[in-house]
Amino acid sequence: MSIESLKKAQEVMRQRREDGIVTVRLDPIQKAKENPKSLRLAINAKCYECCDGSRAEIRNCSAHGCPLRNLRPYQSDDSDSEEE
Ligand code: SF4
Repeated sequence: MSIESLKKAQEVMRQRREDGIVTVRLDPIQKAKENPKSLRLAINAKCYECCDGSRAEIRNCSAHGCPLRNLRPYQSDDSDSEEE
């Protein structure tokens, strides 16, 4: 994201706050409940629940036996993936 687009987004959010618009942020479990047919959101919610919401723990998940491991969110490009 460029600096200009970040400033533009901040300005939009500032204007929304001034207008009294409340932004509701859903956690991954709530998002999955809102979209019960989404496999992506279901996986994100499961990992979120499994790691008590810690992105770092999900990123560094060492449970090689978990069938969701290669599909978990927050993987870095240099994550070791395991193909079985
Ligand atoms: S991939 Fe890791 S974080 Fe996600 S559900 Fe499996 S064990 Fe938990």
